[in-house]
Amino acid sequence: MIVFKSNEEIEILRENNLLVSQTLAEVGRYIKPGMTTRKLDQVAEEFIRDHGAIPGFKGYQGFPATLCTSVNDQVVHGIPSGYELREGDIISIDCGVVKNGFYGDSAFTFAVGEISPDKDQLLRVTRESLEKGVKQAIAGNRVGDIGYAVQSYAEEHGFSVVRELVGHGLGKNLHEAPEVPNYGKRGRGPKLKVGMVICIEPMINMGVKDVYQDRDGWTIHTADGKPSAHFEYAVAVRKNNADVLTTFKYVDKVLNQK
Ligand code: MG
Ligand code: MG
Repeated sequence: MIVFKSNEEIEILRENNLLVSQTLAEVGRYIKPGMTTRKLDQVAEEFIRDHGAIPGFKGYQGFPATLCTSVNDQVVHGIPSGYELREGDIISIDCGVVKNGFYGDSAFTFAVGEISPDKDQLLRVTRESLEKGVKQAIAGNRVGDIGYAVQSYAEEHGFSVVRELVGHGLGKNLHEAPEVPNYGKRGRGPKLKVGMVICIEPMINMGVKDVYQDRDGWTIHTADGKPSAHFEYAVAVRKNNADVLTTFKYVDKVLNQK
């Protein structure tokens, strides 16, 4: 069942996703060779609690941390650990918060130091595929229009789209209806209506689309060990436009200062 949000509820969701956006930027300041993913997790948790919110992922279905930190061939749901980032890694930081009864949920993939041109291209195309998908999140379109836009853009650039994990509705629950796949056909799937808030989160692989779950019960890896990237926005569907509740402007500012 799709839960529609009032304008007041969308403003709470906007505030929460703004906090996630700022948390991603704060974490971004610490991303460099030698930094552990556990330290990044501590930075995020402290920042979120200092802003009067609660980490949204910690304890969710037993997940042990504030962030999902997914390095290189890890697609999503990586668990922060003693792993030290290395020059040339890419790391997806996925972050959730809860405040005033609603969630925030967004993700950004960072480069660690200098990365290879093919990884750089993967990050650029994945982020652009998210923007292509977002443009379709307008009342009257269908969920398949989003997936089609993401998939066709990623595949045009020689990359592949993960099928097993998808975007979702966002509200009082972290994962609400409808599912929002990053692949699909135009004009198919649930109709988008005013008051829907959805997370669009392309997971794009450099090699094959197939993935597997680690023995840790969480981390998703690419089947061929090649890198994967992940960017996520929360978006409110409006009559004539997609109202993006997340912003990467804080992250971009931090990256420009590096
Ligand atoms: Mg999500
Ligand atoms: Mg997320």
